[in-house]
Amino acid sequence: MSSKKIVNIIAYIFVAVILIFVFTKGKPVEKPASSEIYSMNTICDLEIYGKDKEAALQKSVSIINTINSIVDDFSPQSDVYKINENAGIRPVKVSKTTIDILEKAIQIAKQTNGAFDPTIRPLLVIWGFKNKNYRVPTEEKIKAALKLISYQDIVINKEDNTVFLKHKGEGIDLGGIAKGYTLDKIKEALDNFNIKSALINMGGNVLTYKNPPNGSVWRIGIKNPRGSGIRGIITVKGTKFISTSGDYERYFIKNGVRYCHIINPKTGKPARKIISITVVSDKGYLGDALSTAFFVKGKEFALQNATRFNVGVVGFDDKMTPFISNNIKELITIYNEAR
Ligand code: ADP
Ligand code: MG
Repeated sequence: MSSKKIVNIIAYIFVAVILIFVFTKGKPVEKPASSEIYSMNTICDLEIYGKDKEAALQKSVSIINTINSIVDDFSPQSDVYKINENAGIRPVKVSKTTIDILEKAIQIAKQTNGAFDPTIRPLLVIWGFKNKNYRVPTEEKIKAALKLISYQDIVINKEDNTVFLKHKGEGIDLGGIAKGYTLDKIKEALDNFNIKSALINMGGNVLTYKNPPNGSVWRIGIKNPRGSGIRGIITVKGTKFISTSGDYERYFIKNGVRYCHIINPKTGKPARKIISITVVSDKGYLGDALSTAFFVKGKEFALQNATRFNVGVVGFDDKMTPFISNNIKELITIYNEAR
């Protein structure tokens, strides 16, 4: 037997073994480069496969830390902190990234009639969601804070790279868009590496990158919003962003009423039309901001506007009845009870 033939046979066996391994055992063919970090007020899980996985992991972690250092409204060094400190006083020089996130946030605010509003901060403060000292504010306090909620008061100057909030007391909070935006930047970075597959989860904002390591579809569990386990599965192919907003991660209960961390900018009170909503999108920032906006607006608006934004939605209304937009019906399995 010629040596070339032997090499061919070995190569053939190798391929066959890999195929069996992948398709019959369903296990990953290689170990991912992985990391779990705490950033943006949540746990971020990264799993990356492919030749450049170590470098891509390092880059992804650095993207998370960089954007966190910009949007962290408790850190005096952050752009958002400085903008808020100087509200009604003077414009503040910020990074291009800050301007980019703010422009996207304002765009979604306009498109959702202000249901998503990046100037929501004063309301988060009076409800205690900023310092975990939860309380139901008086109607007067809510009224006063409502006057400070207005995305139209964000003045961006792209020549000087400055941002200005028109009135004292106004404040920006990017908690409803920053994680999705970060996933967009991670996706762009992964495109520049030799990467086969990746799964990035930032506290319920998920990026599936290319195919999973052991098959052709990703199966993402839909958490049970009222208890443990999962209530369903989303099946997605390739690169997608899946964002969930719900009332079950950050909330408090007072006199039997549940108050969650997503606030309706029109009423000044925590939104309570639905229990949870998951948005499947081709853009991270869009899915993230829309999950928040749809949570405020409720089931009908979400179902009616899904195609307009080119996203799919699946959620549970206030009676825990599931709803799914037509464009992703075939991708969703809902269980009758938690598993
Ligand atoms: P999570 O951050 O838990 O994944 P969301 O993406 O829905 O959930 O974002 C909720 C966060 O968005 C809140 O913690 C707060 O920082 C901010 N937020 C709350 N209400 C609004 C709103 N109406 N518009 C924009 N941002 C909001
Ligand atoms: Mg969101």
